[in-house]
Amino acid sequence: MSDPEFILLGDALWIDFINTARGRRPDAPDGLADSAAYHRWIKAEKLATDAADVPWEEVLAFRERLLAVAAALDEDRQPPSSAIHEINRILARNAGHHQLTRVGGAWQASFVPHRAPTALEAIAGSAAQTLANPDVRVHGCRAEPCTLYFVDRSPGHSRTWCSAEPGAHPVRVERRRAMH
Ligand SMILES: [Zn+2]
Repeated sequence: MSDPEFILLGDALWIDFINTARGRRPDAPDGLADSAAYHRWIKAEKLATDAADVPWEEVLAFRERLLAVAAALDEDRQPPSSAIHEINRILARNAGHHQLTRVGGAWQASFVPHRAPTALEAIAGSAAQTLANPDVRVHGCRAEPCTLYFVDRSPGHSRTWCSAEPGAHPVRVERRRAMH
């Protein structure tokens, strides 16, 4: 899952979203420089675009909120309640109903939205899923100078890099070569 303009780790949608403000290098440009870039990012994520409907300031403000959530989770702190409030506010835009379905011989209650979520709603939903799942951790990449966040679902939460393959971190590889 690679794109020439955006780093899409594919871990969780909201992590891809906040990583547009981060990078593998300190001088990485902001991936969401303007509303047009947000539109291209949505397309890269194969979501329905809401770039024309959502005020651009709201997109950037929501990204700041989610960056604060990721920073808190990385440091084992409670995320700011203002950010949780904002996630809930965006989730509340899409109404729906609960429904019982039979899955693998067992009944499951699920929430069925009345329409496909907008990109911002999908991002908020992704953050909500991460926050509600105790088996998922959010960490900052430890391969300096990379500042990307990633989701750690590994047993024992042993993942330390944003990328599975060390080869994706040229800086790290260079350093290792220098050590030998
Ligand atoms: Zn990294």
